[in-house]
Amino acid sequence: MSTATGRETLGFQTEVRQLLKLMIHSLYSNKEIFLRELISNASDAADKLRFEALAAPDLVSEDPDLTIRIESDKDQNTITVIDNGIGMSRDELVEHLGTIARSGTAEFLQQMTGDQQQDAQLIGQFGVGFYSAFIVADKVVVETRRAGLTVDEGVRWESDGEGEFTIENIERSARGTAVTLHLKDTESDFAELFRIESLIRKYSDHIAFPVMLAGTAEDEKEPKIVNAATALWTRSRSDIPDDEYKEFYKHLSHDFADPLTWSHNRVEGKREYTSLLYIPANAPFDLWNREAPRGLKLYVQRVFIMDEAEQFLPLYLRFVKGVVDSSDLPLNISRELLQQNPELTAMRGALTRRVLDMLSKMAANTPDDFSKFWVEFGQVLKEGFVEDQANKDKLAKLLRFATTHNGDTEQDQSLDDYVSRAGKDQDKIYYILAENHATAVASPHIESLAERGIEVLLLTDRIDPWLVDGLPPYEGKSFADVAREGLDLPAGEGQMTQDIMDGEHKPLLKKVKKVLKERVEAVHVSKRLVSSPACVVAGESELNPQLRRMLEASGQALPDSKPILEINVGHPLVDRLSAETDDDRFDALANIVLDHALLAEGSQLDNPADYVRRMNSLLLELDSDASSG
Ligand code: ADP
Ligand code: MG
Repeated sequence: MSTATGRETLGFQTEVRQLLKLMIHSLYSNKEIFLRELISNASDAADKLRFEALAAPDLVSEDPDLTIRIESDKDQNTITVIDNGIGMSRDELVEHLGTIARSGTAEFLQQMTGDQQQDAQLIGQFGVGFYSAFIVADKVVVETRRAGLTVDEGVRWESDGEGEFTIENIERSARGTAVTLHLKDTESDFAELFRIESLIRKYSDHIAFPVMLAGTAEDEKEPKIVNAATALWTRSRSDIPDDEYKEFYKHLSHDFADPLTWSHNRVEGKREYTSLLYIPANAPFDLWNREAPRGLKLYVQRVFIMDEAEQFLPLYLRFVKGVVDSSDLPLNISRELLQQNPELTAMRGALTRRVLDMLSKMAANTPDDFSKFWVEFGQVLKEGFVEDQANKDKLAKLLRFATTHNGDTEQDQSLDDYVSRAGKDQDKIYYILAENHATAVASPHIESLAERGIEVLLLTDRIDPWLVDGLPPYEGKSFADVAREGLDLPAGEGQMTQDIMDGEHKPLLKKVKKVLKERVEAVHVSKRLVSSPACVVAGESELNPQLRRMLEASGQALPDSKPILEINVGHPLVDRLSAETDDDRFDALANIVLDHALLAEGSQLDNPADYVRRMNSLLLELDSDASSG
């Protein structure tokens, strides 16, 4: 319905409706954060205006002092957050306070369980922003006028947070936005000045604009400034308590949880800039979405220039949040110009090292935090071996693995741990790539290494085949795949060359090869097996089978390649094979030995029906043996 004031009632986007419901329920114990969110938005609005005013100074000149004002009215049971920032046009208002633009939101909301604590965690990572007002208010009214528009182009938005909002044109003399919360009867203490003041101190002291507070009583009418009102990163490290760093992080990241650590630095000299970089405690829901927002907030000489300046850090550090404030970049820098700016390369290099140093410190000083970090972001960090040639050595020190040393699934062993346990004549770091932990630990390939007490890294992340491809030798030890031909074990008892080992069993090997010639490249006597009869390995120049499986699963056509079969000549089943005189049975047995080797490494059989048929006839024989015996 439309009237002279353009009054319209619109429905919230489905995702907003879902979010509102979930949020009111799951954030109830955290409800005071609404004030932080509204002040944070007001501060962003002031930042944006200052940025636009760089090109159009008129936008700000009528009312040049950017402030945030909070007014409470106990009689009306309302609290209003007022800014003279950028404001919103009618279209912007509908878009910003009626939809959620971030892609993947619908899927994300579906993960909510209804369990208050768990959902609060999830929703906290997502950032609820403006809508958190409805935790404490049963009606919210927004009046706003965008900078540059005229007095009669103001807009009013109103909603009870149930599913619809109304919007209409108003006259508004002031630039910027006023958000009025009509508090629920049960939440009236949020209108108390002392309460508001303590919340501002707790949550918003770091805000770079003055936050002022006023009430309705005679002695409260004169607004008083309650925060420090200087950009946090411009202050000296020693003056900033940890709590303020943490609150600033929440403002910056829209995350509810504290960060794991941060690093605040001023660089002086030829190039001048300040950076404040944070490592979050939780991965955002869209960490694996290539289009997800990432990057630092860029300021030039205190003036906000852009959000999500992704050029300052490589993609594999996309989880880092923070600000960088440069004194050298031009104020009119755009994303495109930034890309070409010669300063950028140097800053990016320095900031990357800064992050890696911060992670090394965390690993050394607070290993428990580093473990949490690794669980959330370890797989992303591994991308660095593909992306960042220059820092491989630093990155290698940060890697954590599950290994045969403790055998559990936790990735908590460093390469230094591995090397410190390796025998002095061991010049390799052994690893196995597998689909999952269970397959890796049970793999035939590691049997003889396990028996000799040689540790093996158990690599089961999707990125791992690329990781090992990019890993340079560590402490002089190169990395060796235990599932590849020509495995080089540390010198020890009975090291024989492949030729000598094969020589003793030539007739058997020849016979097996003849039967399996369509399916295997070669047949050898194995030195890696103890309790399994056989395993397959990849030729020296072949793709790793784990990588091959992944590429094939993603639809890539790869040239055919046959594995090499290795047999355990100490195994009774191989004795049995040797002794078999019936050709058909030899054929069936040899094929089954190969099939089992393939299954054990997680491969699929080309012809499972053949396998089942052979196996069934063998089982039947077993049965007749038993009944006749
Ligand atoms: P976020 O701050 O993470 O973008 P919010 O839900 O807090 O999410 O706000 C949604 C959007 O609404 C903001 O991105 C901004 O465009 C707009 N907005 C909210 N509050 C204000 C304000 N006080 N002034 C101008 N725009 C605002
Ligand atoms: Mg916000």
